[in-house]
Amino acid sequence: MRSAQLRPLRDLRMIRNVESKLHDVVIVGGGGAGLRAAIAAAEVDPGLDIAVVSKVYPMRSHTVAAEGGMAAAIKENDSFEHHIYDTISGSDWLADQDAVELFVKEAPDELIQLEHWGCPWSREPNGTVAVRPFGGMRIQRTWFAADKTGFHVLHSLFQTTMRYASVNRYDEWFALDLLVDDGRCQGVAALELRSGEVKAILGKAVIICTGGGGRVFPFTTNAAIKTGDGMTLAYRAGVALKDMEFVQYHPTGLPGTGILITEAARGEGGILVNKNGRRYLQDYNLGRPLDISDPNHPQNRTMELGPRDRLSQAFILEEQKGNVMQGEYGSYVHLDVRHLGEKLIDSKLPFVRELALNYGGIDPVTEPIPVRPVVHYMMGGIDTDIRGATSLPRLFAAGECACVSINGANRLGSNSLTELLVFGARAGHDAAELAAGSEIGDVGALEAQATASESRVRGLVSNGNQGTERIADIRQEMTTAMETGAGIYRTEESLRATCHKLVELRDRFRNVNLDDSGLRYNTELIAALELDCMLDVAQSVAFSALARKESRGSHQRTDYPDRDDDGYLKHSLAYREDDSPRIEYKPVTITKWPPAARVYGS
Ligand SMILES: Cc1cc2nc3c(=O)[nH]c(=O)nc-3n(C[C@H](O)[C@H](O)[C@H](O)COP(=O)(O)OP(=O)(O)OC[C@H]3O[C@@H](n4cnc5c(N)ncnc54)[C@H](O)[C@@H]3O)c2cc1C
Repeated sequence: MRSAQLRPLRDLRMIRNVESKLHDVVIVGGGGAGLRAAIAAAEVDPGLDIAVVSKVYPMRSHTVAAEGGMAAAIKENDSFEHHIYDTISGSDWLADQDAVELFVKEAPDELIQLEHWGCPWSREPNGTVAVRPFGGMRIQRTWFAADKTGFHVLHSLFQTTMRYASVNRYDEWFALDLLVDDGRCQGVAALELRSGEVKAILGKAVIICTGGGGRVFPFTTNAAIKTGDGMTLAYRAGVALKDMEFVQYHPTGLPGTGILITEAARGEGGILVNKNGRRYLQDYNLGRPLDISDPNHPQNRTMELGPRDRLSQAFILEEQKGNVMQGEYGSYVHLDVRHLGEKLIDSKLPFVRELALNYGGIDPVTEPIPVRPVVHYMMGGIDTDIRGATSLPRLFAAGECACVSINGANRLGSNSLTELLVFGARAGHDAAELAAGSEIGDVGALEAQATASESRVRGLVSNGNQGTERIADIRQEMTTAMETGAGIYRTEESLRATCHKLVELRDRFRNVNLDDSGLRYNTELIAALELDCMLDVAQSVAFSALARKESRGSHQRTDYPDRDDDGYLKHSLAYREDDSPRIEYKPVTITKWPPAARVYGS
């Protein structure tokens, strides 16, 4: 792999079309999905020229932060059928069953392939790949590399892409807009952070792999770069965002920072207790502790290993009962792993210990860890089919920014990393095949579109301090509105207030002011561009949630507390309109697993 060679910087004040770089496939995003797609595309034909555009150096993508592991059925007591059923029931029957079936069946080969590319899976004493339990998975099937799985996964993919000279990188380039000619997506307009220059990075097919958008909420495990940019790129080009109302809260984030304490801590036997020392999950139909004196007993873990939506909701109900503790950063409960012992903690959960020590001042070997629910993942995203293709010809999407959908109303922990590989590979393969047999569209017309993107950027930096709105104010008001109105529990009233606020903020953003009028490394400009994207993502979440008058998975409406299969067993589709999105629906694909109640524990 080589860094893309660019033509010399040019004067942005000159009025002419921006320059372009021509490739065959353009991938936006250098995380797990983007790099897997790049390898797949390179494998289709070594002659193809592949561009990977990333706003950060690829190893800084959020995939690197994943801790717990990735799911694939390989053990003798497991089967594809079990993994499929767990995923579908975890999704509260909103996942497309053909997509889930394909995902589960392709998962083991992808994980074995990853080992061949260098991923050091943790092993059992007999040398076989070890698996650990994870929430909502009724059988242990989560492969892991200690509790630094994402780091090893991303490294393995990154070093593998370096074997392909045909993969060109645009590190620290920010994709601004999709470029479309004759109804086909043919590239992106992108801003180089170093120079402030905008170029048209053209390709015969484009894959968006830009990850999630948890930053639209104030308290999240998501890295600062997770601002939903790629979702917005597609949304602005007329592609629907699907099932955006489904936002996953992870039950165990560190108060204050939102840093994740991985589910692996509960998978290894950690327990959740309230201020009275009670394992309160036994009161929420998630299973009962069979023998409280032996928290390591496998059957004794069912409740802590319930799905994330149920555990996060249980926290709020405990809070309402006054059973939680109060600290500097709000209410919390305790995650207790002390009984696992220092040896196990250091071998299987070393990162948990490191994070708790560094960011909470707590040594989990001797003290319980304070935790509370934290926004973690977006089940929704760019509407794609089972091959990762979108409704815009030549545009694909994969990874957290996409909604295939295998996660439905609630993702099971450890399915996401696997999803990056399975659907990243499919999208990379198909995009490359399409690109191989075709010509690029009208380059002049595409460059003209990139020039319009450049004008937008220049408009933001050169408003001569005339704007009256601050980026930080709008962002803070947006995240507060999302948390108060579209959080774990929602109502018509709370959602209406949030939607109203978001329309107001969208309008105020037009008047935003930047202090830094330079072009080189203008981080304030990037913050403004990201906020612009987040306002769109936030609207799609809140308006989709307002329209869905039922409770399903992570979407809990206290005014409509039941799941309503007659009315809402369907995907929501948010289409961008001037002020607020238009919401439509499309059917869920049900093949062999008819809707049923979600039952956990005994
Ligand atoms: C703390 C944490 C722990 C997790 N643990 C697990 C786990 O154990 N198991 C599991 O299955 N899942 C886990 N997840 C979820 C999982 O890690 C993510 O869903 C997944 O890594 C997302 O990968 P991705 O390739 O889609 O995007 P990312 O890895 O987020 O990469 C996005 C890429 O897009 C680029 N990008 C974004 N916007 C732009 C733009 N405008 N222009 C150019 N480039 C852009 C970024 O630079 C980056 O390279 C965890 C998530 C978090 C936050």
